[in-house]
Amino acid sequence: MIITKQKDFKEILKYLEGAKSVFIIGCGECSTTCKTGGEDDIKKIKAALEKEGKTVTGYCIPEAPCIAAKVKLELAKNRKTIESSDAVLVLACGLGIQSVKENLRSEKPIHVGCDTLFMGAIDSGGVFLEKCSACGDCVLELTGLICPLTRCSKGLLNGPCGGQDKGKCEVDKNRDCAWILIYNELKKKNKLDLLREIRPPKDHSKAGKPREVKL
Ligand code: SF4
Ligand code: SF4
Repeated sequence: MIITKQKDFKEILKYLEGAKSVFIIGCGECSTTCKTGGEDDIKKIKAALEKEGKTVTGYCIPEAPCIAAKVKLELAKNRKTIESSDAVLVLACGLGIQSVKENLRSEKPIHVGCDTLFMGAIDSGGVFLEKCSACGDCVLELTGLICPLTRCSKGLLNGPCGGQDKGKCEVDKNRDCAWILIYNELKKKNKLDLLREIRPPKDHSKAGKPREVKL
Protein backbone atom coordinates (compact mmCIF):
# COMPACT_ATOMS: atom_id res chain seq x y z
CA MET A 1 0.00 0.00 0.00
CA ILE A 2 1.25 3.49 -0.86
CA ILE A 3 0.98 5.77 2.14
CA THR A 4 0.01 9.39 1.51
CA LYS A 5 -0.90 12.43 3.56
CA GLN A 6 -2.95 15.31 2.33
CA LYS A 7 -1.03 18.52 1.75
CA ASP A 8 -1.74 21.46 3.97
CA PHE A 9 -4.94 23.12 2.73
CA LYS A 10 -3.18 26.50 2.45
CA GLU A 11 -0.64 24.94 0.07
CA ILE A 12 -3.42 23.42 -2.04
CA LEU A 13 -5.18 26.79 -2.16
CA LYS A 14 -1.95 28.40 -3.34
CA TYR A 15 -1.68 25.87 -6.18
CA LEU A 16 -5.26 26.67 -7.16
CA GLU A 17 -4.74 30.42 -7.21
CA GLY A 18 -6.53 31.87 -10.24
CA ALA A 19 -8.67 28.76 -10.77
CA LYS A 20 -12.33 29.52 -10.13
CA SER A 21 -13.55 25.99 -10.76
CA VAL A 22 -11.96 22.70 -9.84
CA PHE A 23 -12.57 19.03 -10.63
CA ILE A 24 -11.27 16.60 -7.99
CA ILE A 25 -9.87 13.12 -8.66
CA GLY A 26 -9.41 10.72 -5.73
CA CYS A 27 -8.28 7.12 -5.40
CA GLY A 28 -10.45 4.17 -4.45
CA GLU A 29 -7.63 2.11 -3.03
CA CYS A 30 -4.59 3.30 -1.06
CA SER A 31 -5.66 6.94 -0.68
CA THR A 32 -9.12 5.87 0.47
CA THR A 33 -7.49 3.66 3.13
CA CYS A 34 -5.13 6.49 4.14
CA LYS A 35 -8.13 8.85 4.35
CA THR A 36 -6.52 11.23 1.88
CA GLY A 37 -8.43 10.64 -1.37
CA GLY A 38 -11.61 8.72 -0.59
CA GLU A 39 -15.17 10.02 -0.89
CA ASP A 40 -15.32 11.54 2.62
CA ASP A 41 -11.94 13.25 2.14
CA ILE A 42 -13.05 14.68 -1.19
CA LYS A 43 -16.30 15.95 0.33
CA LYS A 44 -14.33 17.66 3.10
CA ILE A 45 -11.93 19.38 0.72
CA LYS A 46 -14.82 20.27 -1.59
CA ALA A 47 -16.59 22.05 1.29
CA ALA A 48 -13.36 23.84 2.25
CA LEU A 49 -12.75 24.98 -1.35
CA GLU A 50 -16.34 26.19 -1.66
CA LYS A 51 -15.91 28.19 1.52
CA GLU A 52 -12.98 29.90 -0.23
CA GLY A 53 -15.26 30.85 -3.14
CA LYS A 54 -14.23 28.08 -5.56
CA THR A 55 -16.72 26.01 -7.51
CA VAL A 56 -16.15 22.27 -7.38
CA THR A 57 -17.57 21.06 -10.69
CA GLY A 58 -17.47 17.41 -9.70
CA TYR A 59 -15.28 14.57 -8.62
CA CYS A 60 -14.48 11.00 -9.49
CA ILE A 61 -12.74 8.21 -7.64
CA PRO A 62 -11.01 5.78 -10.00
CA GLU A 63 -10.64 2.38 -8.37
CA ALA A 64 -6.84 2.72 -8.73
CA PRO A 65 -5.68 5.82 -10.61
CA CYS A 66 -2.18 4.31 -10.92
CA ILE A 67 -3.66 1.75 -13.35
CA ALA A 68 -4.00 3.38 -16.77
CA ALA A 69 -7.07 1.39 -17.83
CA LYS A 70 -8.99 2.33 -14.66
CA VAL A 71 -8.13 6.02 -14.69
CA LYS A 72 -8.87 6.30 -18.44
CA LEU A 73 -12.38 4.97 -17.86
CA GLU A 74 -13.17 7.56 -15.17
CA LEU A 75 -11.57 10.40 -17.10
CA ALA A 76 -13.61 9.50 -20.18
CA LYS A 77 -16.85 9.47 -18.15
CA ASN A 78 -16.08 12.93 -16.76
CA ARG A 79 -14.36 14.50 -19.78
CA LYS A 80 -16.94 17.25 -20.36
CA THR A 81 -16.99 18.35 -16.72
CA ILE A 82 -13.21 18.27 -16.54
CA GLU A 83 -12.96 20.35 -19.72
CA SER A 84 -15.37 22.90 -18.26
CA SER A 85 -13.22 23.29 -15.12
CA ASP A 86 -10.26 25.62 -14.72
CA ALA A 87 -8.12 23.01 -12.93
CA VAL A 88 -7.93 19.44 -11.70
CA LEU A 89 -6.88 18.53 -8.16
CA VAL A 90 -5.61 14.98 -7.61
CA LEU A 91 -5.82 13.39 -4.16
CA ALA A 92 -3.67 10.32 -4.76
CA CYS A 93 -0.06 9.18 -4.55
CA GLY A 94 2.66 10.27 -6.96
CA LEU A 95 1.86 7.29 -9.17
CA GLY A 96 -1.80 8.22 -9.39
CA ILE A 97 -1.03 11.89 -10.07
CA GLN A 98 1.37 11.07 -12.91
CA SER A 99 -1.05 8.52 -14.31
CA VAL A 100 -3.78 11.22 -14.42
CA LYS A 101 -1.35 13.52 -16.24
CA GLU A 102 -0.46 10.87 -18.79
CA ASN A 103 -4.03 9.76 -19.42
CA LEU A 104 -6.01 12.99 -19.27
CA ARG A 105 -5.11 13.95 -22.85
CA SER A 106 -5.66 17.63 -22.09
CA GLU A 107 -3.50 20.61 -21.17
CA LYS A 108 -5.79 21.33 -18.21
CA PRO A 109 -3.68 22.32 -15.17
CA ILE A 110 -3.37 19.37 -12.78
CA HIS A 111 -2.49 20.04 -9.14
CA VAL A 112 -1.09 17.86 -6.40
CA GLY A 113 -3.19 17.35 -3.27
CA CYS A 114 -1.13 14.74 -1.43
CA ASP A 115 2.41 13.98 -0.38
CA THR A 116 3.52 10.40 -0.99
CA LEU A 117 5.35 9.04 2.04
CA PHE A 118 6.28 5.37 1.67
CA MET A 119 5.21 1.86 0.79
CA GLY A 120 3.62 0.70 4.02
CA ALA A 121 2.15 -2.25 5.85
CA ILE A 122 -0.92 -1.74 8.03
CA ASP A 123 -0.79 -3.29 11.48
CA SER A 124 -3.86 -4.49 13.37
CA GLY A 125 -4.07 -1.16 15.22
CA GLY A 126 -4.43 0.70 11.90
CA VAL A 127 -0.91 2.13 11.98
CA PHE A 128 0.98 2.44 8.67
CA LEU A 129 4.51 1.08 8.97
CA GLU A 130 7.43 1.31 6.56
CA LYS A 131 9.04 -2.11 6.36
CA CYS A 132 10.46 -2.37 2.84
CA SER A 133 12.16 0.22 0.63
CA ALA A 134 11.89 -1.80 -2.61
CA CYS A 135 15.68 -2.04 -2.97
CA GLY A 136 15.46 -4.65 -5.74
CA ASP A 137 17.94 -6.99 -4.02
CA CYS A 138 16.14 -8.55 -1.06
CA VAL A 139 18.15 -9.79 1.93
CA LEU A 140 15.22 -10.89 4.11
CA GLU A 141 16.18 -14.57 3.68
CA LEU A 142 19.40 -13.82 5.58
CA THR A 143 18.00 -11.49 8.22
CA GLY A 144 15.15 -13.39 9.82
CA LEU A 145 12.61 -11.72 7.53
CA ILE A 146 13.31 -8.31 9.09
CA CYS A 147 14.57 -5.65 6.68
CA PRO A 148 17.74 -3.94 7.97
CA LEU A 149 17.79 -1.51 5.09
CA THR A 150 14.43 -0.04 6.10
CA ARG A 151 14.03 -0.82 9.79
CA CYS A 152 17.53 0.07 10.98
CA SER A 153 17.74 3.87 11.18
CA LYS A 154 21.16 3.75 9.51
CA GLY A 155 20.23 1.06 7.00
CA LEU A 156 23.14 -1.10 8.16
CA LEU A 157 23.44 -4.44 6.36
CA ASN A 158 26.26 -6.15 8.26
CA GLY A 159 25.18 -5.95 11.86
CA PRO A 160 24.41 -3.32 14.47
CA CYS A 161 26.17 0.00 14.98
CA GLY A 162 26.64 -0.70 18.69
CA GLY A 163 24.52 2.20 19.87
CA GLN A 164 21.42 0.28 20.89
CA ASP A 165 20.29 0.61 24.50
CA LYS A 166 18.10 -2.08 26.05
CA GLY A 167 17.05 -3.13 22.56
CA LYS A 168 16.08 0.39 21.48
CA CYS A 169 17.68 2.30 18.60
CA GLU A 170 20.10 5.08 19.47
CA VAL A 171 18.58 7.27 16.77
CA ASP A 172 15.03 6.90 18.11
CA LYS A 173 14.60 5.48 21.60
CA ASN A 174 10.95 4.66 20.89
CA ARG A 175 11.90 2.26 18.16
CA ASP A 176 13.30 -1.26 18.48
CA CYS A 177 16.85 -1.73 17.19
CA ALA A 178 16.32 -3.69 13.98
CA TRP A 179 19.54 -5.63 14.49
CA ILE A 180 18.49 -6.79 17.97
CA LEU A 181 15.24 -8.00 16.40
CA ILE A 182 17.22 -9.73 13.65
CA TYR A 183 19.58 -11.34 16.19
CA ASN A 184 16.69 -12.63 18.32
CA GLU A 185 14.88 -13.98 15.28
CA LEU A 186 17.94 -15.78 13.90
CA LYS A 187 18.68 -17.19 17.37
CA LYS A 188 15.13 -18.52 17.62
CA LYS A 189 15.51 -20.20 14.23
CA ASN A 190 18.98 -21.54 15.10
CA LYS A 191 20.49 -19.57 12.22
CA LEU A 192 22.93 -17.29 14.04
CA ASP A 193 25.71 -18.51 11.73
CA LEU A 194 24.17 -16.26 9.07
CA LEU A 195 25.51 -13.29 11.05
CA ARG A 196 29.09 -14.47 10.48
CA GLU A 197 28.81 -14.00 6.73
CA ILE A 198 30.34 -10.76 5.54
CA ARG A 199 28.07 -9.37 2.92
CA PRO A 200 29.54 -7.40 0.04
CA PRO A 201 28.30 -3.85 -0.46
CA LYS A 202 24.76 -3.76 -1.73
CA ASP A 203 24.29 -3.74 -5.47
CA HIS A 204 22.52 -0.42 -5.78
CA SER A 205 22.45 -0.73 -9.57
CA LYS A 206 19.45 -3.04 -9.02
CA ALA A 207 17.55 -0.03 -7.73
CA GLY A 208 18.65 2.31 -10.51
CA LYS A 209 15.81 4.62 -11.43
CA PRO A 210 13.49 4.67 -13.21
CA ARG A 211 12.87 0.96 -13.03
CA GLU A 212 10.65 -0.91 -15.47
CA VAL A 213 9.40 -4.49 -15.55
CA LYS A 214 7.72 -5.92 -18.63
CA LEU A 215 5.02 -8.55 -18.16
S1 SF4 B 1 15.97 -5.98 1.57
FE1 SF4 B 1 14.44 -4.73 2.53
S2 SF4 B 1 14.17 -3.04 1.12
FE2 SF4 B 1 15.17 -4.64 -0.02
S3 SF4 B 1 13.46 -5.74 -1.00
FE3 SF4 B 1 13.99 -6.81 0.92
S4 SF4 B 1 12.54 -5.95 2.43
FE4 SF4 B 1 12.58 -4.55 0.68
S1 SF4 C 1 20.80 1.15 17.17
FE1 SF4 C 1 20.20 -0.57 15.88
S2 SF4 C 1 18.54 0.18 14.55
FE2 SF4 C 1 19.55 1.96 15.48
S3 SF4 C 1 21.04 2.59 13.97
FE3 SF4 C 1 22.12 1.22 15.39
S4 SF4 C 1 21.91 -0.82 14.49
FE4 SF4 C 1 20.48 0.49 13.44
